[in-house]
Amino acid sequence: MAVYKLLLLPGDGIGPEITAEAEKILDFLGEAGVASFETETGLVGGAAYDAHGVAISEEDMKLAQEADAVLLAAVGGPKWDGVPYDVRPEAGLLRLRKDLALFANLRPAICYPALAEASSLKPDLVKGLDIMIVRELTGGVYFGEPKEITDLGNGQKRAVDTQVYETYEIERIGRVAFELARKRGNRVTSSEKANVMKSGLLWREVITALHKREYSDVQLDHMLADALGMQLVRWPKQFDVIVTDNLFGDILSDVASMLTGSLGMLPSASLGAPDASGKRKAMYEPCHGSAPDIAGKEIANPIAMIGSLGMALRYSFDLPAAADAIDAAISAVLAQGLRTADIKGSAASSVSTSQMGDAIVKEL
Ligand code: ATP
Ligand code: MG
Repeated sequence: MAVYKLLLLPGDGIGPEITAEAEKILDFLGEAGVASFETETGLVGGAAYDAHGVAISEEDMKLAQEADAVLLAAVGGPKWDGVPYDVRPEAGLLRLRKDLALFANLRPAICYPALAEASSLKPDLVKGLDIMIVRELTGGVYFGEPKEITDLGNGQKRAVDTQVYETYEIERIGRVAFELARKRGNRVTSSEKANVMKSGLLWREVITALHKREYSDVQLDHMLADALGMQLVRWPKQFDVIVTDNLFGDILSDVASMLTGSLGMLPSASLGAPDASGKRKAMYEPCHGSAPDIAGKEIANPIAMIGSLGMALRYSFDLPAAADAIDAAISAVLAQGLRTADIKGSAASSVSTSQMGDAIVKEL
């Protein structure tokens, strides 16, 4: 039986509560003989600061490097508002992304039929929605130099941000998108602003060449980012995989998240480059934050976290059938009417974090 090493980083706020539910799933899969999971648990964010005065310790960074995947829940909260900038909770997350070189951020937007009423669009427009946004995560305007504010002296200032992309960066993110598409609907929509940006022009050129060279079996379309934003709220089901840069990906994936009903439902994956044996560094985490307002109340929705574990099974552990089973179990408990408070809507009652986790395990 295959053995997979997983580092759990529960972090802060609701993090430990939702991590406990993901662990129930792991325990079940282990007992069922699907695979054997070796888990370690580390500290990140405020939890690491309280224990060691850092955002993540060197020991835990080493465990992250050695693991087949990292499952992180959430970091931060008002308790750590005053801590020094370089050890603030978010610094732990950024360090993980940077040191593991996680350049590809995958954010699925899935609308479970039972939650279509909770979408910001009409239910028919989103029922069964299943799109994947692939965002470039380590380049572009977030990191390009120069990046500065200059005092011009006459009461005026000038701010400069620089968008930089090189061929290899566009190619490797394009490859992730095409590979994903082959396992889904076989369609990629690449998005930039080639009409006004040189980096957009290069993006389109590189994606087009890569497609022609290696992925001509996949359907490729190009759509300007503004038009794509419009189409996402007009007719989202036209898309399968969307690939775009760091900034547009940030915005478009937030737009897409609101089509699906709730922040508490959405998982994500961040992947590095494959090594010689084809293995990638990877970190999986819910799209939501640490939700300090509801921490400790046992009402947090564990589905985004359990879905993130599902993505780890699919993309790091080569257990697609188990990942499908998790998705099906989530869909089934929702169809049965089980709701945590955040997705309660007009339902008569809601269940606790652990009741939701138990129900998903039972369905599995
Ligand atoms: P961050 O800056 O870390 O992204 P944030 O302040 O943007 O955090 P969240 O922590 O995600 O936001 O919380 C936003 C709102 O959504 C809060 O009211 C929170 O209670 C709610 N929320 C977030 N995640 C969940 C969840 N898993 N279950 C229930 N409610 C949630
Ligand atoms: Mg936020």
